[in-house]
Amino acid sequence: MQWVSHDVLIIGAGLAGMRAALELPAHLDVGVLSKVHPVRSHSGAAQGGINAALREEDSWEDHAFDTVKGSDYLGDQDAIETMCKEAPSDIRQMEQWGVIFSRADDQRIAQRPFGGAGYPRTCYAADRTGHALLHAMYERVLKRNTTVYSEWFLTSVIVEEGQCVGITALNMSTGELFGCRAKAVIMATGGYGRVYLTSSNGLVNTGDGMAAAYRAGAPLMDMEFVQFHPTTLKSNGVLITEGSRGEGGTLINARGDRFMSTYAPNALELASRDVVSRAEQTEINEGRGVDGCVLLDLRHLGRDKIMERLPQIRDLAIKFAGTDPIEVPIPVRPGAHYSMGGIQSNLDGITPVPGLYAAGECSCVSVHGANRLGGNSLLETIVFGRRTGAAAGQFVLDRAMPNPGNHHLDEQHHKIAALMDTNEGDRAGALRQELGTIMNQSVGVFRTQDNLTEAVAQAEVIHTRAQKLWVMDKSRVFNTDLTEALEFQSIVDLARTIAAGALAREECRGAHFREDHPGRDDDNWMKHTIANHSEAGPVLTDHPVTFTRFEPQERTY
Ligand SMILES: Cc1cc2nc3c(=O)[nH]c(=O)nc-3n(C[C@H](O)[C@H](O)[C@H](O)COP(=O)(O)OP(=O)(O)OC[C@H]3O[C@@H](n4cnc5c(N)ncnc54)[C@H](O)[C@@H]3O)c2cc1C
Repeated sequence: MQWVSHDVLIIGAGLAGMRAALELPAHLDVGVLSKVHPVRSHSGAAQGGINAALREEDSWEDHAFDTVKGSDYLGDQDAIETMCKEAPSDIRQMEQWGVIFSRADDQRIAQRPFGGAGYPRTCYAADRTGHALLHAMYERVLKRNTTVYSEWFLTSVIVEEGQCVGITALNMSTGELFGCRAKAVIMATGGYGRVYLTSSNGLVNTGDGMAAAYRAGAPLMDMEFVQFHPTTLKSNGVLITEGSRGEGGTLINARGDRFMSTYAPNALELASRDVVSRAEQTEINEGRGVDGCVLLDLRHLGRDKIMERLPQIRDLAIKFAGTDPIEVPIPVRPGAHYSMGGIQSNLDGITPVPGLYAAGECSCVSVHGANRLGGNSLLETIVFGRRTGAAAGQFVLDRAMPNPGNHHLDEQHHKIAALMDTNEGDRAGALRQELGTIMNQSVGVFRTQDNLTEAVAQAEVIHTRAQKLWVMDKSRVFNTDLTEALEFQSIVDLARTIAAGALAREECRGAHFREDHPGRDDDNWMKHTIANHSEAGPVLTDHPVTFTRFEPQERTY
C-alpha cells in the first residue's frame, strides 16, 4: 500500500490553493495536489479583474453594500465585510509579489467599472488578470519548500470518526493509487461549470473536490445558485469579459435597440449578471435575438482602446466567432459560469468536518449569496485562501499525524477496477452530453416546477447509469478515459444537489429565477439551503443568513 504524509495537504493549485499554501508557516510540511499543472488551473482564465476599494472616494463599506445587494441579501454579511475590508491590503500585497496591474494616468493601479458596482473598483492586468495573479503566486509557491503533485487526481476524502484524516488520489502519469495522510486537508478545487452543456469554464471544472467532500459527509450550501454570465460565445461558451462592458461596450438586439434600458434603466449593461442574463434570454425568447444570441457592440470604443484594454477579447472573438470587434459586434448569450454554492465553510475556511477546510470557488462562505458580482471571486480566492491557510496552520500545531486504515485505498482500488474491468455500460462523454442538456434546458436562467421535477427525476436515472460506466481505454498511463468517468461521477452528484435545491426554493432570488414563484420571498426563503449526502440522494435542510448592517431592500439597477 502506498501512503505519503503531509502536515497540510491542499487539493487544488489555483489561486485559492496556492494562496493558502503561502500562508502556512515554513516549518510545516505542505503538499499541493492538482489534476492539471498549477498554472493551467481555471484561475488563469480570469479576464476582467479583482475588486478592492483603493481610492479615497471609495470605501470598503460601499464595496460591502454593493456585494450584499448583488447577493440579493443572501450573502453572509460578516463574511462580506471581512472580504471587503481586507481587500485593499491583499491587492497591495499582490502588487508587491509582482502582479503587473494596469496603471491609471496618475500611475496608481487602474480600476474599471464592473456590473453591480457603484464605483469603478475592479483592478486589472489588461484582460488577463487571472493569468498575472496565478503566475506570480506559482513563482512564490516554488520558492516555498512545497511538494507539488502535478497531474494527480483526487478520488476521495478520508473521514474517520468524524474527522478528516487524508485523501486518496490517482497518479495520472502511472495510473497508481496513493493515499495521503494529513493533519488537515484544504479543498481548493474550484467550480463545477461543466455540469452544464455550455459553460465558460475550463474542461477541468467538474467539481470533484465538492463532490468528494460531500460524499465524505461535508454539507454543500446554496447549490441552486448558478451564475450565468451574459457574454459567452455561442460556438464554445468562451467568456467575453464583463470588462468589455465596463470599458463602454453595449448590448443590442436584432433591431439594433440597446435593450438594457428596458430592464435596468440606470445601470444598463452594468446591472448585475443575473439581471443582464435574464434580459438577454427574454430578448432571445421573444424573437428579438440574432441566431440565438444578442450582440455585444464594442466598435465605438475604437481600435486603440480595444487593443490596449481588451486584446485577448479581440483575439477570442476573431478565433471563435469569426468577428473582429473593432469592425463587427460579437454574438453572445448567457452561459453557465460560476458556482455560488459549495462546501459550507466559515470565515476561516473551517467546514463542519474537523480537519477539512475549503477555500475559493469550491467553498461557500458565503460572500456571493444568490448572485456574485464580477471581480469578487478572484478576491475571494486571495482573502479566504490566506485566512484558510492561517487557520489550518494553527489547527495542525498540536495534532498528531493520523493513520487512516488501508481499507480506504482498497475501496478506491475496487471502484476503479469496477470501471476498468467492464466492457458495457454508458460512455461518460455521452452521458455528460445528456445530463448537460437537461441542466441547460431545465435548471438554467429560467426555471419552473415542472421542468425541475423532470430534471430531478432524470438526474436520478443518470446517476444510477453513471455507477457503471464503460472505460474503453484499459491502459494505466494518463488514462483520461478513466479520469473523465470519475469526473462525470462528480458532475452527476452535484447536478442532483443543484436540481433538488432549485426545486425546493420556491421564490426568485439572484440567479435563481422561478417563473412559477415570482418575486423574492424573504418571509420563507431568507435562508441558505444545505444539502447532505445520502445513498438515496441529497437531503435538504437550511441554515440562517448572517446580518450585520444592511437591511434587505428591493433590488433594482
Ligand atoms: C473564463 C473565466 C473568467 C473569469 N474571470 C473572472 C474575473 O475577471 N474576476 C473574478 O473575480 N473572477 C473571474 N472568474 C472566476 C474565478 O476565476 C474563479 O472563481 C477562481 O479563479 C477560482 O479559483 P480557485 O482557486 O477556487 O479554483 P481554480 O483556479 O479553478 O483551481 C482549481 C484547482 O483544483 C484542482 N482540481 C480540481 N479537481 C481536482 C481533482 N479531482 N484532483 C486534483 N486536483 C483537482 C485543479 O487542478 C486546479 O488546480 C472567471 C472564471 C472563468 C471561468
